[in-house]
Amino acid sequence: GERGPTDLLAGLDPEQLAAVTAPRGPVCVLAGAGTGKTRTIVRRIAHLIHAGHVSAGQVLAVTFTARAAGELRTRLLALGVPGAQARTFHAAALRQLRYFWPRVVGDQQWDLLDGKLRLVGQAAHRAGVGTERETLRDLASEIEWAKASLVAPEDYPAAVARARRETPVAAEQVAKVYAAYEAAKNAARQLDFDDLLLHTAAALEEHSAVAEEFRDRYRCFVVDEYQDVTPLQQRVLDAWLGRRDDLTVVGDANQTIYSFAGASPRPLLDFTRRFPEATVVRLERDYRSTPQVVSLANRVISAARDRPAGSRLRLIGQRPNGPEPTYAEHDDEPTEAKAVAARIKDLVDAGTALSEIAVLYRVNAQSEVYEQALAELDIPYLVRGGERFFARQEVRQAMAALRKACGDPPEGELPAIVRGLLEPFGLTAEPPSGGKARERWESLLALVELAEELVATDARADLPRYANELEMRAQAQHPPTVEGVTLASLHAAKGLEWDAVFLVGLVDGTVPIQHADGDDAAIEEERRLLYVGVTRAREHLALSWALSRTEGGKRYRRRSRFLYGLIPDNHPTARIAATRQRDTRPVMGRAMTPVRYCRVCGDKLIGTMPTKLGRCESCPSDLDQSLLDRLREWRMERSKALKVPAYVIF
Ligand code: ATP
Ligand code: MG
Repeated sequence: GERGPTDLLAGLDPEQLAAVTAPRGPVCVLAGAGTGKTRTIVRRIAHLIHAGHVSAGQVLAVTFTARAAGELRTRLLALGVPGAQARTFHAAALRQLRYFWPRVVGDQQWDLLDGKLRLVGQAAHRAGVGTERETLRDLASEIEWAKASLVAPEDYPAAVARARRETPVAAEQVAKVYAAYEAAKNAARQLDFDDLLLHTAAALEEHSAVAEEFRDRYRCFVVDEYQDVTPLQQRVLDAWLGRRDDLTVVGDANQTIYSFAGASPRPLLDFTRRFPEATVVRLERDYRSTPQVVSLANRVISAARDRPAGSRLRLIGQRPNGPEPTYAEHDDEPTEAKAVAARIKDLVDAGTALSEIAVLYRVNAQSEVYEQALAELDIPYLVRGGERFFARQEVRQAMAALRKACGDPPEGELPAIVRGLLEPFGLTAEPPSGGKARERWESLLALVELAEELVATDARADLPRYANELEMRAQAQHPPTVEGVTLASLHAAKGLEWDAVFLVGLVDGTVPIQHADGDDAAIEEERRLLYVGVTRAREHLALSWALSRTEGGKRYRRRSRFLYGLIPDNHPTARIAATRQRDTRPVMGRAMTPVRYCRVCGDKLIGTMPTKLGRCESCPSDLDQSLLDRLREWRMERSKALKVPAYVIF
C-alpha cells in the first residue's frame, strides 16, 4: 500500500535514521553483518523519492548478484516505490550499452560473446599452452581477474608479481593467451561480460554527448556490498558520477570475500578521503541474530589479522536470547550429512519453514552428500549458486563414460577402474591448486568415493552395478523445487539470512581451503568466509565437520583451525573433545549426535563395533544385491508412510 514519508522512517534506529535522511550527496555506511545496511539503503531510496528530492527514474542502485538485485527491487516495491532501478553492475551496463552503443560505434553489429571457453581454447592453442578443459577454465578466470583489475595483457606478468598471485600457467603464457583472446574476440566483434563494463566506462569517458545525456537521466547512485567492488566496477561508477557526488555506499570490510577475483575494500575504507564532506554512519546493533550467534561472530572476526581501521566494529545483539550454537564432530561425511538432515527434519517438524533453513559449505562439490541425505528423508531442497551434483557437466560426462565402458570393463578393482576412467576428465593424482579445476576434481573424486563405498558394502560390486547405483542416486534426488532447504556455498550466501543455518565440512583443507595455505591474505579471506557464514543465522546455528570423507574411511582430517579458541573452555565440547582420542564416537551437540546403523538390517550399531563394511556382525556379507535393493526400497517406502527416517524402521 501507499506509505507516507513518516512511515518510511519508522522502525529505524538513530544511526540508520541519520543515513536514511542525510541530504543528497556522499553517504557511507560502514557496518557489520545484520546491522540493517541493506534495509537502510532501501529506506533511503524510498525516502528520497517520497520526499521529492529525486524521482524514481533517476535512481540507480547496484549490487553484485542478480538475486540481491531482485531482493532490492522487491523491498522497494513493498515500500511503494516502483520505477527505481536495482541491478547488478553488469545488467546496468548492458542496458546502457544497448542504448548508447550505436552512437559509440556507428551501425556495426556487435554481439555478446557466446562460447568463451572455445575462444580461450583457440587462444591457448595459438600461444602454445595446454588446452585441457580445466586449464582453459583457469585461464578464463585469470583473464577475468586481469580485466576486473584493469590490467592489460602486457602488464599482466608485473601485476601478478605485485599481487603475489599464483597463476595456472607461467604468467608470460597467460599474458599471451589473454592478448590472443582479446584480439580474436574483437575481430569477431564480440563482447564478453567484462567488456560490458569496460565499454560503458569508455563510452561515458570519451563521448561527452553520451555522458551528458546519461548524467541528466541518472542522478542518484547507491551501491550495496561495496566492500567487494573491483577496480573495473569502480571505474564504471566513476564514469556514471562524473564530477558529481550523489553516491550512497554500504558495506562491511569484514565480508570481503571476492578479493581472489580482484575485489577490494579500499574504496569503502577510503571513502571519506575521497569525499571529506561525506555523511559517515556506523551501525553496531545486530538485528538479525541472537546474542549467542553474534557473540560467535565477534569471536570469529576478532581473531582476524591486520584488520584495517575501518573494519574494527563490534556487533551488539538486539534480539532475545536463543540457543547456543552447536558443534559436532563426526566420523565421516555421510554420517555428518545424515545427522544434519535428521536435525533439519526435527526443525521442520517443530514448525520451521523449509525456506528458513540453509546448509552452507565451502565448495559446491560438497553438496552431493547433503542432497543424498535430504532426499532420503524426503526433504525438498534447492541448490543455489551451483548445480545439483548429478546435473553438473563433469558428473554427467563422467557417468556417460562409465556407462559406455560397461560393455567391456577394464580388469581390476572397481575404484581403480573408475579412477582410470575419470582421469581424462581431470581427476589427476594431485588436486589442482584451485579454481574450477579444483571443483571439478572434487566432483570426480566424490564419484570414486562412491565406488569405494559400494565395494565396502557389496561383495559383487562391479562397473555395471556401480553405474546403476549412480543412476539410482541421480534419480533419487528431488526434482528442482521453489520451496525447500537451501544448499549454497558460503560465497553464494552473502547478504542472505535464514532462521537455521548449518555450516558443514569445517575441516582444515576445506575451511580454510587447501590452496590458501602459505598465503596469509588468502587465509584471512577464508576466515572472513566463515564470518559471512556464521552471520547468516538468525537463531539456530550448527557447526560440524567429519574426520573422514567416506563411511568407515581413514580418519585423517582435522577440524578447521579457525575453530580452535572459538569454543569457550566451559563449553561441553571442549571437555568431551579431550577424551576423543580413545572414544571415536561422534561428540558434542546432543541434538546432532548421529547413530550408526547396520547397512543391511538397519540395527543400531551402538555397543557393537561396526565391521569395516558398515554391517553388524550377524549380517552376512554376501547378500544378493537385488535383495539389498529391495530392502532399501521397502525401507524408503515404509519411512514415507510412517513419516520417520528410513533407518528407524528396523
Ligand atoms: P549483511 O551484511 O549480511 O548484508 P545487512 O547489514 O545488510 O546485513 P539487513 O539484511 O539490512 O542487514 O538487515 C538484517 C536483518 O535485520 C533484516 O531481517 C532486517 O529486516 C532487520 N533489521 C534491520 N534494521 C532493523 C531495525 N532497526 N529494527 C528491526 N529489524 C531490523
Ligand atoms: Mg546486506
